[in-house]
Amino acid sequence: MTLAQTGHMPIYSLLFGIAAGGIAFVLISRNRRAKRIVLPIANAAFHSIILFGVFTGDATLRVSRPLLVVIVLANAVLTQSTVLYCGHCGGTYLAYRGTRCRTCGEQV
Ligand SMILES: [Zn+2]
Repeated sequence: MTLAQTGHMPIYSLLFGIAAGGIAFVLISRNRRAKRIVLPIANAAFHSIILFGVFTGDATLRVSRPLLVVIVLANAVLTQSTVLYCGHCGGTYLAYRGTRCRTCGEQV
């Protein structure tokens, strides 16, 4: 999938900024309550970049549009369920990266 240069660039930049900022916050912060709010927003912004490109026709597709939408939504759900927060220190870890918190080493 490639993006054409269009007048939509400010929207992509905005969404990317929200996504990147949110993801950085989730990786750095130990505030679980804040992260439960920030991650869905960042996750939605990130996947919206792709969906926006698909629906505006900016993106050149190699698969059918409905299939791509299903893949993007499935990936959003997968991302959401993969990112977990340590009950001990509040650090962020990924579900497939073993069973120990990478921040405090606690069994999770
Ligand atoms: Zn921890």
